[in-house]
Amino acid sequence: MITDVVVAGGGPNGLMLACELSLAGARPVVLERLIEPSEEPKANGLLGQVVRMLDHRGLHERLSGSPHPPRPNSGYFMFGAMGLDLSLLEASPVFALPVPQRHIVQVLQERAVELGVEIRRGHELAGLSQDDDGVTIDVTGPGGAYQLRARYLVGADGAHSTTRKLSGIAFPGVTYDRMTVLSAHATVPAEWVDPATGALNVPGHGAVFPFLPHRTEHGGFSYAPLPGHPPLISTTEWDTPATDAPMSLEELRASIRRVLGVDVPLDPPDGAGPHVLRRLTGGNTRIAERFTDGRVFLIGDAAHVYAATGGGPGLNLGLQDAVNLGWKLAAEIRGSAPTGLLDSYETERRSAAERMVLNAQAQSALIAPGSDVTGLRKVFTELLSDRSTVQRLADLLAGADVRYDMGEPEAHPLTGRFAPDMDLDTPAGPVRLAELTRNARPLLLDLTEEASLADTPALRHDQVDVVTARSRIPTTPTALLLRPDGYVAWASASPRPGPAEIEALRTALQRWFGAITPART
Ligand SMILES: Cc1cc2nc3c(=O)[nH]c(=O)nc-3n(C[C@H](O)[C@H](O)[C@H](O)COP(=O)(O)OP(=O)(O)OC[C@H]3O[C@@H](n4cnc5c(N)ncnc54)[C@H](O)[C@@H]3O)c2cc1C
Repeated sequence: MITDVVVAGGGPNGLMLACELSLAGARPVVLERLIEPSEEPKANGLLGQVVRMLDHRGLHERLSGSPHPPRPNSGYFMFGAMGLDLSLLEASPVFALPVPQRHIVQVLQERAVELGVEIRRGHELAGLSQDDDGVTIDVTGPGGAYQLRARYLVGADGAHSTTRKLSGIAFPGVTYDRMTVLSAHATVPAEWVDPATGALNVPGHGAVFPFLPHRTEHGGFSYAPLPGHPPLISTTEWDTPATDAPMSLEELRASIRRVLGVDVPLDPPDGAGPHVLRRLTGGNTRIAERFTDGRVFLIGDAAHVYAATGGGPGLNLGLQDAVNLGWKLAAEIRGSAPTGLLDSYETERRSAAERMVLNAQAQSALIAPGSDVTGLRKVFTELLSDRSTVQRLADLLAGADVRYDMGEPEAHPLTGRFAPDMDLDTPAGPVRLAELTRNARPLLLDLTEEASLADTPALRHDQVDVVTARSRIPTTPTALLLRPDGYVAWASASPRPGPAEIEALRTALQRWFGAITPART
């Protein structure tokens, strides 16, 4: 039997892809070499547009444990450990969801199982070969070696991706070997924590704001009091002597003394672990030479990795890779994909990854030690009083400046961008736009005065849901065509779109979702 898609790797990105494929009607099998989800502490949270994307699938509620929609940070944030005053912006793009990666994997695995995904734990992709019709995958499982045949294979198998290596895809980029990051869960003197701001008031040094990297001329320091966990304390230093000794709280305390110039007493954390006690030396920033090789695709860390000292871009990018690829692959499997749809995965996600490299590298450069960097930061700090600079940097770190080419030269400003959320009144009652996209189907949202688009038979596409609504707040768009990944494929600002706009909408429907079948009466 041939499986639709084998996903190698049941980490966050592989599981997200499996959910998306299932929602779009394809049958994925996930191979995960670990018997149990990894306990290794990795991400402490999600930052940027990915938080809104998860809201589109109803996963924000599950991850945050709150029924409330995501709210952007509209106060103080950081870029390269420099203050970014988000209150200057009309609408901040910086969304954050502080949940540990273990919990993200658990929630995505539960969702995948609900959707009927087959997850084979303890099964490892060991080899692959492909032909015109599919991919043959060599698997090593608990019962021994076997082969699987699939129409497509997606490597979501992390930074050291076997899929990428077996496909002969190079992973060019840079390795930073001068940087050492020490991190530990530890408690600090309770009286140092400002109850109003949550800042750590370090005697002899000053206030360190929570979650925001703090730079001195000798290195970086951060204090992250994560909800339900002991604070995560980290330092970043350059050119420290190499050591094989096991990492200890004393080592972190000595590093803090070098970075801040004062002593910060640290005690082991209370409560059940696993607790972080980690030394990371060096790091890589790399993007795969290709994200696609015939019937093989790469997503997440298999496609790109970052040595990030600012907000973690890893899952902001990887989970959105999964959501970009899922519906396109499912359409190809159904036989309804228009020409070029699958190719757009690489075009769109490569440019998003390149933008994220820019973000990670710029922040790393600005956080480096030395008086020359201090000079550069002073210039940058002056620029950061300018609202438009703050907007650009906030968009860059949130990944909100991604605009895909939708093929319309004089398109509405929202075309190609991730859809804004909107409060709507529909015949079925009040709803947010993000709640209309839970089933991951394409959506034509008709806010025109007389629901003129919904009533046009020439626009009825069997793959596309149509919802008529009124926007609670008068907004510019009067109609939106949304792809399943939440990006706007076409938009209008006219109360009654004319023939030219209707033709542009027909073109967009066909470009993204295939031929329009004759209208059913
Ligand atoms: C210390 C640290 C802190 C981080 N902090 C953040 C953060 O705060 N925010 C953020 O967004 N990102 C953060 N990241 C990055 C984030 O953790 C990664 O981007 C994310 O784990 C990538 O997910 P993935 O599913 O692509 O790969 P992984 O999480 O690496 O998952 C790959 C899976 O594939 C499995 N696998 C590997 N090979 C095979 C095979 N041959 N066959 C079958 N299965 C296989 C592995 O067992 C694993 O489960 C951090 C990373 C680190 C290391």
